[in-house]
Amino acid sequence: MKSSSFHDLQLYCDFRRGQGGRIVNIHLLDTHLTNQISAGEVVERPASVVKELIENSLDAGSSKVGLEILQGGMELIRIRDNGNGIHPDDLALALHPHATSKIADLSDLEKVSSLGFRGEALASIASIARVKLSSCYKEQTQGQQISAAGGEMSPTSPCAHPRGTTVEVRDLFYNTPARRKFLKSVKTEFSHIETILQRLSLSRFDVAFELIHNDKTIFSSPIAQTSETQQRRLSSILGNDFIHHALAIEFIAAGMKLWGWIAEPAFNRNQNDLQFFYVNGRFVRDKLLNHAVRQAYEDVMFNGRYPIYVLYLEIDPRAVDVNVHPTKHELRFRDSRTVHDFIEKGISDALAQIKPEVMISAPPVEYESIAFDISAIPTQKAMPLVVKEQMEVYNKLHETVPAPLVMEKIPDIEPQLGYALGQIQDIYILAQNKQGLIIVDMHAAHERILYEKLKHEIETQQIAVQTLLVPYIIELNRTEMCAWEENHAQFQLLGIQSDVSGPNSIAIRSLPKLIANAKLDTLIQDILADIIEMGSSQKMQNKVHEILGNVACRAALKAHTRLSIMQMNALLRDMENTPHSGLCNHGRPTWKLISMPELDKMFLRGR
Ligand code: ADP
Ligand code: MG
Repeated sequence: MKSSSFHDLQLYCDFRRGQGGRIVNIHLLDTHLTNQISAGEVVERPASVVKELIENSLDAGSSKVGLEILQGGMELIRIRDNGNGIHPDDLALALHPHATSKIADLSDLEKVSSLGFRGEALASIASIARVKLSSCYKEQTQGQQISAAGGEMSPTSPCAHPRGTTVEVRDLFYNTPARRKFLKSVKTEFSHIETILQRLSLSRFDVAFELIHNDKTIFSSPIAQTSETQQRRLSSILGNDFIHHALAIEFIAAGMKLWGWIAEPAFNRNQNDLQFFYVNGRFVRDKLLNHAVRQAYEDVMFNGRYPIYVLYLEIDPRAVDVNVHPTKHELRFRDSRTVHDFIEKGISDALAQIKPEVMISAPPVEYESIAFDISAIPTQKAMPLVVKEQMEVYNKLHETVPAPLVMEKIPDIEPQLGYALGQIQDIYILAQNKQGLIIVDMHAAHERILYEKLKHEIETQQIAVQTLLVPYIIELNRTEMCAWEENHAQFQLLGIQSDVSGPNSIAIRSLPKLIANAKLDTLIQDILADIIEMGSSQKMQNKVHEILGNVACRAALKAHTRLSIMQMNALLRDMENTPHSGLCNHGRPTWKLISMPELDKMFLRGR
């Protein structure tokens, strides 16, 4: 082969093929085979066909998308929309590779707002399945249809079709048995289809969706423009409980907008299947975005649990490149740091506002309307006591030694968590406020308080340090000793001053006041265990919060610690002044309120 021109190369390939010889040299693939290969990227399974087709319907401005599936999509996928339709002259072109109506040049690609733009999907699908495309273009009354299979296309012919488009895909992978073998059971393939439909339907509340499998309606959601209908759509996808445990958020800054719903941390999952993130309407699974969300939840959730959310990021399309991945699930942001911090801040601000709800939600009951004659029981007369009296009574009852007064001035406004009444089993603190009875998990609450304080002190580099009069010596094993030698600078970061005191021991000279009461041996050994597990000090830098969380947990009041009423009240006041205090570092609630109406209901009062 002398010339390397494309034409000659093609001739040469045809010649070699014609000879029936085995082709061992470099050669061009024919168009049909090229399509089949690119179909490998686009079409992995029936669900990928569904995704491409629904996206086309959405791009065509449809307000209604109906999907009919037989046998998990292996036998039939039929999608019907009421969008703009395809012009009869373009019908054949639509099935042609690299034919698209959505972008014309490179500048369009930079600000692409449609879901599709590569012009590959229909051609790829037609190369591995039997496809029928019927459409009625918006300005026409007569529909047209065309069929394609195995690289052959039928001529266009008229058909009855309302405005919009129907695409029918039968016998997926009929001509690529190797691919067909990779398909899973009908049930599995269908569940992938369902997932795709869920993702897409959450991206467009202004579109109605319907999904029918083997003649059974599986999902049907009308256009959802009101908050009530939106909640209904959310519930049908994320479960009925989601909306009761979710927080609607909206955060606008730096030219971006983040909105949607996030579940409270205690309402989490053991897998990441209920995480929906959209960037400019496109569903994505992007590392940077995931990381930002995880970071925001880090302080309030167990390791290994996954938050539930439906989030929408709106950002200038020119600031994000969607053309980095064939499925367009990953993105590239021009200013990734800003995007990351924006999302983290938006979510953590929202999480910081979460207050535990009333324990059992009861319909509001008019408190005054409860038929109960207070004057009949003389001792009841004093209830509710004014705050000041209440404090005095408590103090007299419970304090043998006058404790330092926590609050010099009794405020006019009742504190949120009210005043302590006592402890149950030395685990829970009971308190009352005007709304009812408050139950506090003492350890969980104290853990959060310590953690937030430690974090604040360390971040502002204002660690209140307690110097030990006599250094405290701790024996370490060899691994611990190595870990300490490599990381003792990091100990400083945590506010712990230590040095070598022997071949197998270190001396602690000072530590943060906040944790001065903790058992030092276990505390230090546990920190070292964390460090050993994390591997390197580099990692430790990033994991300071995790370590602090563990430190706080170890230094926090243990269950079965008896507290005085004064101490309990001090704890309550601390909680009120601590961010995220409604949840412990692992996302468990720290307190609950049982409202008066709820108590009345329990005791059938007022009936
Ligand atoms: P892309 O979506 O990347 O443009 P496709 O192969 O998916 O490529 O579709 C090719 C073209 O066919 C689209 O650009 C669009 O003009 C047309 N098309 C496909 N599906 C529809 C539909 N449901 N309604 C209207 N036009 C459609
Ligand atoms: Mg497309």
